[in-house]
Amino acid sequence: MLILKLGGSVVTHKDKPFTPHIDNIARLAAEIAEADAPLVVVHGGGSYGHPVATEYGIAEGYREPRQIIGFSKTHQAMMELNGIIVRELLDAGVPAFAVSPSSFIVTEGRRIIDIDLHVVERLIESGLVPVLYGDAVLDTLQRFAILSGDQLVVKLATGLEAERVVLGSDVDGVFTADPKLVEDARLIEELSLSNHGDEAKIGDALDTDVTGGMLGKVLEAAEAVEAGIEVVLVNATVDGRVRAALRGENVIGTRLKR
Ligand code: ADP
Repeated sequence: MLILKLGGSVVTHKDKPFTPHIDNIARLAAEIAEADAPLVVVHGGGSYGHPVATEYGIAEGYREPRQIIGFSKTHQAMMELNGIIVRELLDAGVPAFAVSPSSFIVTEGRRIIDIDLHVVERLIESGLVPVLYGDAVLDTLQRFAILSGDQLVVKLATGLEAERVVLGSDVDGVFTADPKLVEDARLIEELSLSNHGDEAKIGDALDTDVTGGMLGKVLEAAEAVEAGIEVVLVNATVDGRVRAALRGENVIGTRLKR
């Protein structure tokens, strides 16, 4: 059982609102079609979810009535992106099946407290490939919240006892610093999380500057690594990397270790 996350930076043009990256999506659909194990796909929001969620302050929770329609619009934007991705997967021959996280997950203070995986399990048993996404979800403390694809991936991985998680982003993996900002940043091929995912300690121990979305990914992934699940971060914008990672082949990227 494999879980593949495709970052918002991969499936959308992040700087152009509501613009899917069709080339990446179509190519990845073909790579996914070659996977030979049961699979769940999770994708991020990129230029679909983020602009709407930001406009209405959904991540911060309920403060004013105008946010209620914004909550629905955020979810709708994500379903539209999901529809495009599912369509491409179907065209590539993958039996993809759209599943809305907000319909079976509730958070408490932005962390998942309620998740029922029975239907997802049955979908997988039936030979389907569930396709989920970072979503606007109901939250017990702040009425609603944004559930990141990264948090979702890890809960799915532990709950479904996945063998491997492949996190696809627009960089080759975890670097000593943000490779988009620091020219001589080096790729870390094996990243040890032996200090249990504590944010400051990860930074100290590795003498690296992991920030932005990448820090969130590594911190979330620590839980899966602790559970003995293989986690590998690869560049999903490069042809063949996701295919190789899904097959368990040696691929340019970062492997997380305990
Ligand atoms: P996605 O949308 O693919 O889930 P994010 O944009 O949230 O990914 O996070 C990945 C980004 O994190 C990279 O594009 C990179 O610019 C940034 N980043 C910051 N620090 C690092 C680092 N040390 N190594 C790799 N990427 C980093």
